[in-house]
Amino acid sequence: MKLLEDRILKDGDIIGENILKVDSFLTHQVDFELMQEIGKVFADKYKDAGITKVVTIEASGIAPAVYTAQALNVPMIFAKKAKNITMNEGILTAEVYSFTKQVMSQVSIASKFLSEDDTVLIVDDFLANGQAAKGLMEIIGQAGAAVAGVGIVIEKSFQDGRALLEAQGVPVTSLARIQEFKDGSIIFAEADA
Ligand code: 5GP
Repeated sequence: MKLLEDRILKDGDIIGENILKVDSFLTHQVDFELMQEIGKVFADKYKDAGITKVVTIEASGIAPAVYTAQALNVPMIFAKKAKNITMNEGILTAEVYSFTKQVMSQVSIASKFLSEDDTVLIVDDFLANGQAAKGLMEIIGQAGAAVAGVGIVIEKSFQDGRALLEAQGVPVTSLARIQEFKDGSIIFAEADA
């Protein structure tokens, strides 16, 4: 997605060896116009897949996920990272290792929001080693629902996430794919949309 790649080149900062900071439009401050365009592209790609829910993980997946859900006209559910006393009914959970925080955490979705009748599109901000998406797939599997695909805003193709997800038979649609960080520059691979 050219609009996204241009924005990454303009506003993205490389942190250390393998982290991209995009807090001015995606992970902290949110550019809703860009998110809306992203949502339309994911929705167009999956328009014939019978999607009934969009699922993401808090917090930075929420913005692209909600616009994808709007474009598909289905609900968006975000997995919660901390247990909360208002989650007093059945919950589905998985352990997820956080790439940026470097800790294991339990993520949960209330079981009443997913069922075996659902076909889910997972959306997330970044794909690194695939642990967040894998945890979401576990939760969705516990509900007996199907995963039609994973939509990623920014994939770091030099990490293992895509291979992990594709090995489970799940298609991955990444709107920007970073092949490498080279001498302070961002080199893109061909994106999926
Ligand atoms: P994974 O679970 O695929 O290893 O990592 C994906 C998750 O880690 C995303 O949900 C995102 O929050 C975070 N993440 C991974 N790589 C980056 C990065 O380069 N920049 C930012 N801002 N977040 C990242």
